[in-house]
Amino acid sequence: MSDTPDSAVRTYTEQHRTAFLDDLAEWLRIPSVSAQPEHEEDVRRSAEWLSAKLKETGFPVTEIWETAGAPAVFAEWPSDDPEAPTVLVYGHHDVQPAAREDGWDTDPFEPVIRDGRMYGRGAADDKGQVFFHTLGVRAHLATTGRTTPAVHLKLLVEGEEESGSPHFRALVEQQAARLAADAVIVSDTGMWDETTPTVCTGMRGLAECEIELHGPGQDIHSGSFGGAVPNPATAVARLVAALHDADGRVAIPGFYDGVTELTDTERALFAELPFDEATWLRAAKSQATTGEAGYSTLERIWARPTAEVNGIGGGYQGAGSKTIIPSSALVKLSFRLVAGQDPDRVQQAVRAWAEAQFPAGVRHRITFAPATRPCLTPLDHPALQAVARAMGRAFGQKILFTREGGSGPAADLQDVLGAPVLFLGISVPSDGWHAPNEKVELDLLLKGVETAAHLWGELSAALR
Ligand SMILES: [Zn+2]
Repeated sequence: MSDTPDSAVRTYTEQHRTAFLDDLAEWLRIPSVSAQPEHEEDVRRSAEWLSAKLKETGFPVTEIWETAGAPAVFAEWPSDDPEAPTVLVYGHHDVQPAAREDGWDTDPFEPVIRDGRMYGRGAADDKGQVFFHTLGVRAHLATTGRTTPAVHLKLLVEGEEESGSPHFRALVEQQAARLAADAVIVSDTGMWDETTPTVCTGMRGLAECEIELHGPGQDIHSGSFGGAVPNPATAVARLVAALHDADGRVAIPGFYDGVTELTDTERALFAELPFDEATWLRAAKSQATTGEAGYSTLERIWARPTAEVNGIGGGYQGAGSKTIIPSSALVKLSFRLVAGQDPDRVQQAVRAWAEAQFPAGVRHRITFAPATRPCLTPLDHPALQAVARAMGRAFGQKILFTREGGSGPAADLQDVLGAPVLFLGISVPSDGWHAPNEKVELDLLLKGVETAAHLWGELSAALR
């Protein structure tokens, strides 16, 4: 199975460690903050820097892809094995805003190494995790004696992820032929913690809506009219109260249609994770857990769909009393979706459910924001098993599995390219994504290099 002796990869990685970290530090010095217009040129400089570095790494094809916003980088390294499968790696080269006065101990764009960690904006999210693929592919070649990778390797590194990827879907659709792949590796996530390497198997999707209700043409006197006309605030409250049943399940008919249920194997593997509910509650700043009956906390946030009230309002909310029947009320709802759920069908179900409950004389408007699809690669998928094997060889440990409760552009890749999406990340929760003093653990970063070095051989064998 192992076409790359694990120790040779480790030695190669160690030998190139210093140059690799110097290069990463150079990239981190470019403040590629996509959200701030004054950094527009820096985002472009970051793309050009990466493109040049990928060329130096050996990628015969490197291109800057323009979008309606910030540029992306595309690179391609075909295998000399014509039968080899094609793998696309996804990451992003833009970063979150950062300023010394936000609470950074050192300049966020002047990276420093301290206590085995590199501190700097983008160290973990996501430049460090994109960059481990460069030394990874070199180690793969050097230790196998190959001159080209064992897979047709493609890289797409976008420049607007931290701004919500507004042009990403269009880019992927426009370049679908060149991006075509048998599997997608997303390196923009993390693992459970410093000592528990994990592979994430999927992300939830997201549907959001705002419901406005209008009753009387203006606020009216509750003495003159109260008790005899419909109250839109009452209607919103009834709607929200009807959202869940007594078991914490979403009570919208058809909401669970198609949901991919957790398997016993996955539940057992989740249960092996060192999850401490008290610590988790402290992070949540909540007094108690709740949710759908019959599921653990991790199962609820990773593998079950949800409905949440994000905001609710209507009527008088100032000091003292104002005896009115308000003319309008509103609620904002969001739904996290899991594999098997179709956002369009969920939106239809929400609309039908809500409309059936409004009293006569209350007008409504329901507005949906663009939805994000869920994505999931089953545990027994050969490509997922290959990722876990590669990671296991690098870490020398059993690899466990997680999911991600949030939502992201990875689903667009799954959707447009029709390829399974796999997550390979070495970041840990303490890395401080989007926060001051973002860092990456150097030991884990180098494990990322080693994992990437093992991955192409493993995937090449698994995907035939
Ligand atoms: Zn990221």
